[in-house]
Amino acid sequence: MNRAYNFCAGPAALPEPVLMRASEEMMDWQGSGCSVMEMSHRSTEIVAMTEAAEASLRRLMAIPDDYAVIFQQGGASQQFAAVPLNLAHSDDVVAYLNTGQWSKKAIAEAQRFTNVEVVGSSQASNFTEVPKAEEWSLPANTRYLHYCPNETIGGVRFNYIPEAAVPVVADMSSMILSEPIDVPRFGVIYAGAQKNIGPAGLAVIIVKKSLLGSARSDCPAMLDWQKAADNGSMYNTPPTFGIYLAGLVFEWIEAQGGLDAMAVVNRRKAAMLYDLIDTNDFYANPVEVESRSLMNVPFTLADSSLDKAFLADAEAARLLNLKGHRSVGGMRASIYNAVDESAVATLAEFMTDFAKRNG
Ligand code: PMP
Repeated sequence: MNRAYNFCAGPAALPEPVLMRASEEMMDWQGSGCSVMEMSHRSTEIVAMTEAAEASLRRLMAIPDDYAVIFQQGGASQQFAAVPLNLAHSDDVVAYLNTGQWSKKAIAEAQRFTNVEVVGSSQASNFTEVPKAEEWSLPANTRYLHYCPNETIGGVRFNYIPEAAVPVVADMSSMILSEPIDVPRFGVIYAGAQKNIGPAGLAVIIVKKSLLGSARSDCPAMLDWQKAADNGSMYNTPPTFGIYLAGLVFEWIEAQGGLDAMAVVNRRKAAMLYDLIDTNDFYANPVEVESRSLMNVPFTLADSSLDKAFLADAEAARLLNLKGHRSVGGMRASIYNAVDESAVATLAEFMTDFAKRNG
């Protein structure tokens, strides 16, 4: 087998044991004589599989019983609309923190449905930090506060959970399952699957049950969290293969020791890259140290004319998908749960060597 080191921001690397198991089970899932993709979502087996995936996620994140767990299709971007449609009416006010490209997209979508107040922003610093807790406050009448704990493109993370008297809604797409999360501090957590959960096209929503049931009348049925929760995520035909794979990933994380264990390894991985970047003049990362992402590490080369050579040499060394997002340029290494320490060490060695050869 000739697996490459994959630093893609998403769809991202999946744990190899999960891919192996899925390949073993592809033709005949658990003695059913069918692929999991070929079975009715209403069958006892697939309902049980979905329930088992949910139970595993609940154990991993210590999700209390007064929260619903929903699997929905459409990715995280669809939730940018689902959030206001489920939680706010057109004449309400909702609050957003703006810390980068994904915050902006969430804001732009919410503006289509309700009145958005951007209560804090790090735009002035070109999103190299997050607004400090004491730098922003909420207007009295907002329905919720939305923020993005980890901005995948800028590589910026919140090192605190915003305090608010209203439900806190978090787009955790690029950091869910990378560390323990204090779920009761959130009204809604949502995430696209294609980083730390499973294949693209699936979103996971964790919502406090008391927030269900007030979707606006014009909320499409498919985006109504209450309908999804009432139907065990089977209002329509759900992405069963995605849920199956997510279940295998949850099982794999549990076997690794859960989110505490993930967090320890993820901190070591990120430190390996940031230490190198900070001690080698050949590389730079503009993000304020305490706001640096543990999952997405953007970096630039001192001489950007070497960018192409860097990417070509990296690819030749089987280190893939290191090109930074088109909006910021440079490089980005995404080091989600499935990218193990040896992959990150291999990248660090490559970076040191490339700097020596070209510095
Ligand atoms: N939010 C964040 C933080 C993301 O990183 C992404 C995808 N990279 C999205 C939302 C959008 O996700 P999707 O493509 O699943 O809609």
